[in-house]
Amino acid sequence: MVTLNPIALILDLISPPRCARCAIRGTWLCSACAERLPRLDEHHCRVCAAPGARSTLCPDCYREHPPIAGITAPFEHRELARTMVLNMKYRGHRHLAHVLAPAMAATVTAHATVVVPVPLHPERKRERGFNQAELLARDVAATMRLPMRRLLTRTRPTPPQAGSSRVARLANVRRAFKAHPAAKGEVVLLVDDVCTTGATLFACAAALSQAGAASVFGVTATRASLEQGH
Ligand SMILES: [Zn+2]
Ligand SMILES: [Zn+2]
Repeated sequence: MVTLNPIALILDLISPPRCARCAIRGTWLCSACAERLPRLDEHHCRVCAAPGARSTLCPDCYREHPPIAGITAPFEHRELARTMVLNMKYRGHRHLAHVLAPAMAATVTAHATVVVPVPLHPERKRERGFNQAELLARDVAATMRLPMRRLLTRTRPTPPQAGSSRVARLANVRRAFKAHPAAKGEVVLLVDDVCTTGATLFACAAALSQAGAASVFGVTATRASLEQGH
């Protein structure tokens, strides 16, 4: 992992584990606090994992099946789960990937052959010093004993996801990704931190399928509904 923030890296290495919620020492998340994580219940879309679906498919996926076999997530993007994702992403609490990734891996039933992180545009990665999707992908791959490979590149920066619908967001990320030819024949498990409409994962899956991937699944730490945003 390349980081341009050596102080954050050193702090990350020397600071002893503390629970992300109650700050008790010796663990990144104590068992009492882990029970408070807002788990995504069974009422979600089987394809895009949208919470609150009354049938197996949400209206969007029913209308048009997205170019991905299915997305899973252990948590809803609210309360402690949302705080953990935001702290990992914007406050450099990289160790939270160790807590989130095993829960993510536990939701995956697909027999993937490779784990692929959703890439950040190089400019954004330079600003942040790391790609949070890659931190999670590394730990998900380790948990599932699969290789992690960077088979996607972002060909243009996408503006912050401002649109209000899946259609608007899809237009925003369309053709923003390019897949490596090595994706051919692979069953890909895409990893990102949060899924809001699925648009980013759909665009990545479309690029991977175009490169010959056998099938593409996705897993994220949290699943938001549009109103929740990032
Ligand atoms: Zn705790
Ligand atoms: Zn859906």
